[in-house]
Amino acid sequence: MPSRKFADGEMVRGRWPGSSLYYEVEILSHDSKSQLYTVKYKDGTELELKESDIKPLGSFRQRKSGSASSSPSRRRGSRSRSRSRSPGRSRSPGRAAKGSRRSASASHHVDIKEMKKEVLEVKLTPLVLKPFGNSISRHNGEPEQRAQNAVPHRSAQEQFPLSQESSYTSIQHSLRPRREESKFKKIDLEEEKIVTKGPTLRTWDVTATQTKDLEFGGVPGAFLIMLGLPAFLFLLLLMCRQREPSLLNFPPPLPALSDLWEARVFGAYLLWFGVQALFYSLPIGKVVEGTPLADGRRLQYRLNGFYAFILTSAAVGAALFWGVELCYVYHHFLQFALAALVFAAGLSVYLYARGLRAPRGDLSPASSGNAIYDFFIGRELNPRIGTFDLKYFCELRPGLIGWVVINLVMLLAEMKLQHRAAPSLAMILVNSFQLLYVVDALWNEEAVLTTMDITHDGFGFMLAFGDLVWVPFVYSLQAFYLVLHPNQVSWPLAALIVALKLCGYVIFRCANAQKNAFRKNPADPKLAHLKTIHTSTGKNLLVSGWWGFVRHPNYLGDLIMALAWSLPCGFQHILPYFYVVYFTVLLVHREARDERQCRRKYGVAWDQYCQRVPYRIVPYVY
Ligand code: NDP
Repeated sequence: MPSRKFADGEMVRGRWPGSSLYYEVEILSHDSKSQLYTVKYKDGTELELKESDIKPLGSFRQRKSGSASSSPSRRRGSRSRSRSRSPGRSRSPGRAAKGSRRSASASHHVDIKEMKKEVLEVKLTPLVLKPFGNSISRHNGEPEQRAQNAVPHRSAQEQFPLSQESSYTSIQHSLRPRREESKFKKIDLEEEKIVTKGPTLRTWDVTATQTKDLEFGGVPGAFLIMLGLPAFLFLLLLMCRQREPSLLNFPPPLPALSDLWEARVFGAYLLWFGVQALFYSLPIGKVVEGTPLADGRRLQYRLNGFYAFILTSAAVGAALFWGVELCYVYHHFLQFALAALVFAAGLSVYLYARGLRAPRGDLSPASSGNAIYDFFIGRELNPRIGTFDLKYFCELRPGLIGWVVINLVMLLAEMKLQHRAAPSLAMILVNSFQLLYVVDALWNEEAVLTTMDITHDGFGFMLAFGDLVWVPFVYSLQAFYLVLHPNQVSWPLAALIVALKLCGYVIFRCANAQKNAFRKNPADPKLAHLKTIHTSTGKNLLVSGWWGFVRHPNYLGDLIMALAWSLPCGFQHILPYFYVVYFTVLLVHREARDERQCRRKYGVAWDQYCQRVPYRIVPYVY
């Protein structure tokens, strides 16, 4: 394998494609197959460059005049900072390169040949534009702003009174291969048409740069996860049903498929899913807009998860009143898990098939073009049937509300099988802790719209299985465990566990609330005491308050709560602590994914944040 000359994170000079100009760039990654480096310019532009187009910083002499610009967009900015000028007119290096391509094609065939050698050509394409037709231009690498949050924001807000943080202009750039030249021409024509009409919003088809490094171990990793996790789920459930669920015991045998599959159970599962879909479709609850998509559009979402929960609670209450035997779910728990798995797998096939026909602009930035990987991660970002958003619906409804219902079933099963007049204190603690978690998620449903599940990952097997199978059947493991493995919890111990749970909840809720409030309105006077770092995207990063404590305070709170959910099960077996172990792995991995995405988004500003806030999740530990 040929070796690479430059390391990730190294600052070098990168040639701007189609020109002889070099700018300071940061090496983000290197693709050993294509031998291309992904580099980031100081204005946030990410491009792929050949090694021959990259020079070490030291190989350039400093210009005395200081006219050498440090980023392509700075050149752009130095020509005109007029607000009325349309970006379409700006003589950016990208446009200059494009312009020079056109003239070259008219007169210099030699030059064209030369340029065809370019691996990639660029087109600067503003993704989201304010109606003013210009940007609040900021550059990574500028001296860090240590000012109070309100100061930089207020100036921007005073100039352009914006209600939402997302109204800030985010000049990003899309990169297209030369073979898409004809598409360029079409867009150019469109662009020219728009320019003649004056400054306006442009929402042409833009494609987000696809993620090159596949996550989750790439194709083999995705394949193994898809096979391994369902098998592991059944192993956990089978172990939990054993009288002696020690890990040292030989795993119990899997029942025959004929015992596991029951049409009636599958029918009950379909009914559950259908009822939740019906609740979701009810025209009750606020309609809000999601985060801007790559083409600037914002999808609408109805917030009625909490209502769905109330209606479900009423339906379950009515079922109990009329004597419906809910313990049926306990006795057929494995069959229900299989029914959910079959449904999730079928849904994934449907999602993949429709994703094949989806326009490119609708694909998730995580999709890769590889069939196995895309089946796993999902091709389409927001698959919808009419206004019914499949991913958003599955994120919080059938699985999350199902988890609470399963916990209730376990509570009833405990009373029945242990001949108790009332549930045990341990079962009450587990049920109420997890109920609080689910109600909190549904009450703050809008927050899910900014998570990477919604904004980055497609809807494929990973989320379908996670939302519909893993969450309800694995997260209820503690309650399932307590049915056959009672544990006596003393009142003082219960008080300590409650205190731990509340401590975790306060960290989790306050951290999430602080970030959500800041993202919604960065100029919120209640947040004026917080310090921030500027980023070139127009979005700032909090560096004090909860987000100055560690880089993911919400994960810390979540992990503390996870521990509090397991403690009521005692210390006889490790099985009820599976959730804590699994969740730690999940959040450490998720943190790394988020970190990579944030580094791509925010570049140097993210590094500054990491320097200021060195610990990721647990202070002084990790
Ligand atoms: P987070 O809520 O942690 O959000 C991460 C995003 O926040 C980043 O991508 C960035 O996005 C923004 N951000 C990061 N640092 C800062 C900062 N300093 N200032 C301002 N914005 C910042 O994302 P998750 O979706 O991972 O988690 C959401 C919640 O869900 C968490 O509480 C988590 O514990 C929980 N969760 C629970 C799971 C479960 O199974 N129970 C599974 C996964 C998550 P940007 O800058 O673009 O806004």
